[in-house]
Amino acid sequence: MNWEVMANRFERERGAVLLEIRETARLWESVRCPEDGGFVFCYDHTEALTWRHLNVFQHRCEITCRLPRGKCRQCGHVFRVRPPWEGLSTHFTKEFEAFALLLMREMPMSKVAEVVGETDTRLWRMLFRQVDAAYAEADFSNVCCVGVDELSVRKGHAYVSVFADLVKKRVMFATEGKDHTTWEAFVAALEQHNGHRHALTQVSLDMSPAYLKGVKETCRNAQVVFDKFHVIAHAGQAVDEVRRAELRAGGAGVWAALRRSQWLWRKNPENLTESEQARLAKIDQKNLCTAKAYQMRLVLQDIYRSATATEAGRRLRVWVRWVRWVARTHPKNLLRAMVKVADLVENHLAGILAHWKWGLTNAFMEGLNSVFSATKRKARGYRSTTHLITMLYLVAGKLRLPQF
Ligand SMILES: [Zn+2]
Repeated sequence: MNWEVMANRFERERGAVLLEIRETARLWESVRCPEDGGFVFCYDHTEALTWRHLNVFQHRCEITCRLPRGKCRQCGHVFRVRPPWEGLSTHFTKEFEAFALLLMREMPMSKVAEVVGETDTRLWRMLFRQVDAAYAEADFSNVCCVGVDELSVRKGHAYVSVFADLVKKRVMFATEGKDHTTWEAFVAALEQHNGHRHALTQVSLDMSPAYLKGVKETCRNAQVVFDKFHVIAHAGQAVDEVRRAELRAGGAGVWAALRRSQWLWRKNPENLTESEQARLAKIDQKNLCTAKAYQMRLVLQDIYRSATATEAGRRLRVWVRWVRWVARTHPKNLLRAMVKVADLVENHLAGILAHWKWGLTNAFMEGLNSVFSATKRKARGYRSTTHLITMLYLVAGKLRLPQF
């Protein structure tokens, strides 16, 4: 044994169990100089240091030790011997860190701090070290299908671009911003971890031009796929915009029909509650642009049930013409948001149809939204994007972190 327990005592006033540990003479048989591997002798000891360990029943437990410092017989280098119980942070044992990581996956950081009785600053520092160490070991060598999405950190403000491996269903990389430089940053991270830009065969994107430019410029083998989830989301937002434009424009009965109705139009008919169905039935839909936009969204969704890309392509072209035609017959251009979606669909038809060739990949990207919301709740109160991204890696990165 290289270490032994000299004493253990219970400090009644703190309610804490203290384990006093020191090294044995045998330790020096196995310690070598970190500089040149030379033999080492005991030079001196540090002050007494403490490490938080797992509780003993309800009592806080700490290890305390005056760590020996070794001196190399060859080069004279003096260094602190690293004890086997120490985690990646200087205040906690390995076991305590693994336990705290387990809690961090389940609850907000402020709550973890409360439960274990440590400061959140220490806990965050530990999390940063654990995630940094595990992330450095992450292997992206077989990554071929990637999805990217921009997620808002605070409503209407900062954005984070999140890149995911769609096969292994894990977050690979996240960075602040949503312009084309984020794609370059992703490719750099990919290649630092044994991946290769030309190994990417499928990239699933929102229809934002920024990522598209990045993919086209750097990844020649990648087929761009516009996710079903994003296409439908664009149409859903358009319905909302049409509703707001129509409310602003006013007109007979419009206010009564559309007031506080946004949730009706966001759902699919089969998901409406009975009272919502009754409300929808009462609305005179014939002359409402919002109702037309809603129908357009439902038809677009239905087109995704097409069996083949050929059939879907034909139906999408018809859909585009239908939207434009209906929009022209309405005054005040109230349907212009939906016409913009029609333009997007026409301009990105090949990428949209790639959905049929490559199969369904959007489930993970769609789920990412709720994972991200949960991550924001866990990191609530900590404003930096680094906190948020680190927490996202913990929750969704599938990193090799210590298991409790
Ligand atoms: Zn040495």
